[in-house]
Amino acid sequence: MKFSTQTLIAIQKLLVEDFQEQLGQKAVGVDEIEQALRDGLQEIGQHSYGEMLSLLDEHQYQVAERCECQRMAKRVSRRAAQVLSAFGRAQYRRSYYHCRGCGRRWIPLDESQQLRPGRATRLMSGLLGIAGVSVSFEEAQQQIQRYLQVDVCPNTIRQETQGLGEKQAEQERIWQERSQDLAHLQRREQTLKRPQRLYGSMDGAFVPVEQEWKEAKRISWYQVGKRYGKNELYAQAIQHYASLEEAAKFGELVWATGVEHQADRAQELIFVCDGAAWIWKLVDQYFPQAVQIVDWYHACQYLYPVAEAVFDTSQQQAEWVEEMKAFLWEGEVEAVIQACQDRPAKADAPAQRLMTYYCNNQERMRYAVFRQAHYMIGSGTVESGCKQVVSMRLKRSGASWSRAGASATAKARTAWISGAWDALFALPLAA
Ligand SMILES: [Zn+2]
Repeated sequence: MKFSTQTLIAIQKLLVEDFQEQLGQKAVGVDEIEQALRDGLQEIGQHSYGEMLSLLDEHQYQVAERCECQRMAKRVSRRAAQVLSAFGRAQYRRSYYHCRGCGRRWIPLDESQQLRPGRATRLMSGLLGIAGVSVSFEEAQQQIQRYLQVDVCPNTIRQETQGLGEKQAEQERIWQERSQDLAHLQRREQTLKRPQRLYGSMDGAFVPVEQEWKEAKRISWYQVGKRYGKNELYAQAIQHYASLEEAAKFGELVWATGVEHQADRAQELIFVCDGAAWIWKLVDQYFPQAVQIVDWYHACQYLYPVAEAVFDTSQQQAEWVEEMKAFLWEGEVEAVIQACQDRPAKADAPAQRLMTYYCNNQERMRYAVFRQAHYMIGSGTVESGCKQVVSMRLKRSGASWSRAGASATAKARTAWISGAWDALFALPLAA
């Protein structure tokens, strides 16, 4: 729906006239005008929203309505309620029925429109959620107050944010069921095109949950493209998913989301990850056909501590790192390992860590081969979005999370960052 231009012009004229009258009486500043307009429009929104809901109810429901049991039930009253709208708390009245036949009592407007008395509307729930996945619930309260001029307590923001995360979890459960269903997997052969080149990245970050550190795990699926006129590759259409489950259980989510993105059917599937053992185990288990690449930046990070232990000046350190990176770039992992074997004793510990890592991942560090195939070797563009996906938000508040709360918040946040926010609202709002 839309309001008529005439109506809007009439309101506008009235406001301007009101302003004109006051102009003669006292000095007014521009900031004051802007604020007064905000306040006024908000008040109009708050009251007219409530009145419109009441009218909608009056228009749609009669003195008697048919009950589920097929008997006619009488309207007992029109009861008052309040919802938290984007304009603030709005009062409305809606028909309340009681069926004498089966004893059912119900409010059809609330049921059919999924209005939750005392709770946020669908629109407001989404706005509270955006604040709640971005900053701590306390900070979100401040932001909402500034942006919307509506007072909402941190707990309400938490409830709405996590409600959205639970919807995401529900969606993932549906995907998990589907991913186990052979008929579903086969049906895709006829209906969906195979993706050409698809990428996956996984990692973990520790977050404080119930007085201990739990690893939040993340899987992202994406494609890679080139920007116009630029040569370097960048990730696009990135979709993140997060979970606080152990690796084995997390694997089910990796498979389920993989099936949704058709990773199992991709002509080429490439995993660019850091070196954690659980990650490559999951890749081997679910996608043995995939090309495995150790993220370039992760591989390079092992060089710096060795350089610092061996060389005194930062220039020498930088030169050595550059020299080693050049080897890596050409896929000569052995040359780097060799250089570390000939190190002075004081570099023992970092050099050992590097050699273990490089030996274990040698085949995943053939960067010359990967570059020739035009694979993206660094998940940098994904990572930068990703550290933020889970750990940044969950570490943000000083308090320790409950397991359910951390999980729901992480899932809501992945949905927001992946641009899957609006899809969440296709499901019923959390009770
Ligand atoms: Zn009935």
